[in-house]
Formats: sequence, C-alpha cells, structure tokens
Amino acid sequence: MKSIAEIKPLLESPKKVVITMHQKPDADAMGSSLALYHYLIQKGHQVTVISPTNFPDFLKWMPGADGVIDFESSNDRAMEALKGIELLFCLDFNALYRTKNMAPYLEKLDCIKIMIDHHLEPQPGFDYGVSDTTASSTAQLVYETIYILGDEKYINLEIAQCIYAGTVTDTGSFRFASTNAKVHRMVADLMDRGLKHEVIHQAIYDNFLENRLRFLGHSLLNRMEVFYEYNTAMMAIPYTDLKRFDLQTGDTEGLVNFLLSIQGIKMAALIIDRNVEVKLSFRSKGNFDVNTFARKYFDGGGHFNASGGRSTDPLEKTVGRFIRAVEENEELLQ
Ligand code: 5GP
Ligand code: MN
Repeated sequence: MKSIAEIKPLLESPKKVVITMHQKPDADAMGSSLALYHYLIQKGHQVTVISPTNFPDFLKWMPGADGVIDFESSNDRAMEALKGIELLFCLDFNALYRTKNMAPYLEKLDCIKIMIDHHLEPQPGFDYGVSDTTASSTAQLVYETIYILGDEKYINLEIAQCIYAGTVTDTGSFRFASTNAKVHRMVADLMDRGLKHEVIHQAIYDNFLENRLRFLGHSLLNRMEVFYEYNTAMMAIPYTDLKRFDLQTGDTEGLVNFLLSIQGIKMAALIIDRNVEVKLSFRSKGNFDVNTFARKYFDGGGHFNASGGRSTDPLEKTVGRFIRAVEENEELLQ
C-alpha cells in the first residue's frame, strides 16, 4: 500500500468518488467520512458517501448526514453512485467484510482503493492509505491527511465539527490512552477555526429519548453479572429487551463502558441478541488484549482495548462460550 501523501496527484483533476465506512457506523466512521466529503467537494470532486447500513439518529445533526446513502434501504441509489467510480475511500475499517452486504460489490470494483483507518491487522488489497493504530480516531487521520496534502486552508467549520465528533467519541471524551498532546493540539486548531465544542457534546450525548435511560437502568440492575475472580463484567441483553424498550440503532452505544467503571474490572463484555446474530462488544483496561480475544473466539477484531465480534449461536450458548473463553484467559486477566 502506497502512502496517503501519494494520492495528491490523483486529487488534482475532478474525479467520481465514493466514501464508505463500516456497517452500523459510529460517530468516528460518520465523522471521518463526512469530513473527507466536505474536503473533497471543495476540491471539485463528485463525491457520494455510502453507509453499508442505517446509522444512529444521534448522528443526523452532522453536516452532510442527510446526503448519506444507506446501502440497504436505498440500494438502487447506492449502486448508481458506485457505477464508474475512480476512487473509493474506505474509512474507519480495514477489512472489506466490515461493510457487510456491500463487501462483494466493493471487491469487484475496478477503481483505486484508499484506506484511512486506525484498527489493528489491516487486510491487503488497498492501493493507497494510512493505517495508524496509534491514532485516536480515523477522524484525526483525515485531519492529518488534509495537512499532509497541504490543504489545511480547506478545513472549515463543517470539517471541524465532523472531526471533533469522531475524536471525542473514540477517545471516550479525551480519556483513553490514545489522547496525546497531538490530539489536544488538533482540537485547539479546530477551535481556532470556529468549533464550538459544547454544541457537539449536546448533539451527541444529550439527545436520547426517555426509553434509552429506562433501558440503561434495567440493564444495570437486571442484566449485569460480575465475575470478580476473572476481573470481568458482562451484560447479556435478550432480544425481548430491545423490543420492550423500542431500542433503535445506536441506543446501546456506550453501555459497555459502564461495566469498566467497576473497581478492579479489567475486561467488560456487552452481548446483545440482535435476532439474526449475536453481537459482542469488548472493552479492557491496561494489558488485556481484546483484539486478540475477539479474533480468537468471536470472529471479530478491533483495537487492543476496544473490539467487537459476532456469534451465530443463540444468546445463552454464546454467553456460555464467552464464560469459557474468560476462564481460559484467567491468567491474562489477573
Ligand atoms: P463496538 O463494540 O463499538 O461495536 O466496536 C469496538 C471497536 O471494535 C470499534 O473500533 C469497531 O470498529 C471494532 N469492531 C467491532 N466489531 C468488529 C468486528 O467484527 N471486526 C473487527 N475487525 N472490528 C470490529
Ligand atoms: Mn474509529
């Protein structure tokens, strides 16, 4: 894969471009994609952003979000946008399977593929890109890419808002280890460009419906289990809970972090029965590697301290498999 600096000549003449991200995008996937979108349209390119699936309502405020095509619900429009593209940007993922039903189409595309990402163990097959696992967020990498290309004059308020949203969420509001001086310097630069951070925080964190908080209370009280001998906490959410509280995409985001706030807990798992499959989210503190854990046991991956996976077994069986996996890792969890 050639370095991201080498895309400069490709951007000199107008191109047909698609930007895409991982399925069920979070604020970093959406924020980095839309930041790149606002940059590339200023450079005169014809750009479409496609999400493999729908995205949470709490991201709809993002500038440009209303133009994002959902590959599942607006498939005809997405296929039309993909026709004849010259550049495909893949943001916040590094393996095509993470685009779910889009993956077979992306594989077949005869165009230049560019990855901008910060997850571990990237797949081959990208022509250009940056894969920096030390970056706080993909949004930060988009910011750095714009600088590398000498185009910082294009960083307007829309771009600043999208980049800030991706960074604040992926760093747990600037608390994870990935938050270094460079991240704070970037935010200072974005503020110099007009960013009002409290507006973004309110849009993301103070925008939930009552049912989400009721669900949170119910889950903490009734669905949480703590295994002190393994320094692990777990929450298993049956599909009936998702129905009962009328949960929408994004409503379970952040739930797993509550488990990690228990004294002494090194690993937290949120296991949700999404009906078609069971989705697992892992978080850890310190030296327990949940990327390896997710890859080994649950067909997933991600970062050292935050990862995800899936299971096609029913919820109870998946929980059993998780507990056995934790037992196998007893020593690493001490
Ligand atoms: P979450 O628990 O929020 O879904 O995901 C945590 C982190 O792991 C995110 O950075 C996400 O992109 C990544 N991740 C989640 N599921 C998977 C998966 O199935 N495979 C890989 N490679 N990464 C995942
Ligand atoms: Mn990310």
